[in-house]
Amino acid sequence: MDEKAVLIITIISILVIAFLVAVIISITYQRVHKKHCEYVEAHSNKLVLISKLNAEFKFITLDRSVDYYRELDNKRAYDQFNFYNFMLMLVCEKPDAFATRIGYVRYNQSKYNEYDERFEAIVKNDTAEDLENYRQFKSFKTIELEQVKQQKQNPVRCLDANITIEYTSPKGQKWYRSWITYNEDHIAAMIQEANKIARHKKTIQHERNLMNPGLRYDVLKRDGFQCVYCGATAQDGVKLHIDHIIPISKGGKTEINNLQTLCDRCNLGKSAKL
Ligand SMILES: [Zn+2]
Repeated sequence: MDEKAVLIITIISILVIAFLVAVIISITYQRVHKKHCEYVEAHSNKLVLISKLNAEFKFITLDRSVDYYRELDNKRAYDQFNFYNFMLMLVCEKPDAFATRIGYVRYNQSKYNEYDERFEAIVKNDTAEDLENYRQFKSFKTIELEQVKQQKQNPVRCLDANITIEYTSPKGQKWYRSWITYNEDHIAAMIQEANKIARHKKTIQHERNLMNPGLRYDVLKRDGFQCVYCGATAQDGVKLHIDHIIPISKGGKTEINNLQTLCDRCNLGKSAKL
């Protein structure tokens, strides 16, 4: 063998030995570290306190976000898409479901503040037992802190409603996408709005239900069984309607002072003007 070959073999041998030593050190380190972790787990006073704290604070599990997706079929619809109205429509469909979720989020928020305070107090305040542990074993505190952090609960404390819209032009030449996020405060305001809309609808239905044959007759009789606009009567071949002078949708009531007799032609003309 020439000198060059010997040199190469020596270098390879050194590298192999160095590699093996590194592997052995790493395995040994991991074993020792595992033992240290087990030791800390068995002796940590803070971990016991944290586990008690965790048992005391039960949070509600829920998804952090709700996602809605809309694919629009033309650019105009994409440009004019009204995120607020879309979200409001979703809230109007299930106001109670949204209210429940917000209730859960608010519950978690309020409980979490107290939990966090007490958790941090446990971490910060070293008892005599803790100090004794740290004195006996140098890495105790570092390892303990790692384990303590892993035990911290992180409940969902906000509600994000994400709306994403997309439009792809014909042949897929252009692609548009935009999105918005509403948080629990926005949604809470929308629930109020939804309730207002529901109450308004109920009022309208109520006013409609107040119309009855007796009232109809009273109005017809007062107006002389003829259209108050053009004077047409049933004999002229028109159909007489009872009309709300101020429409129900604008706050008009179903009472005789707000009612008038109109023929179908005049009624049609009036509704076209409104
Ligand atoms: Zn008329």
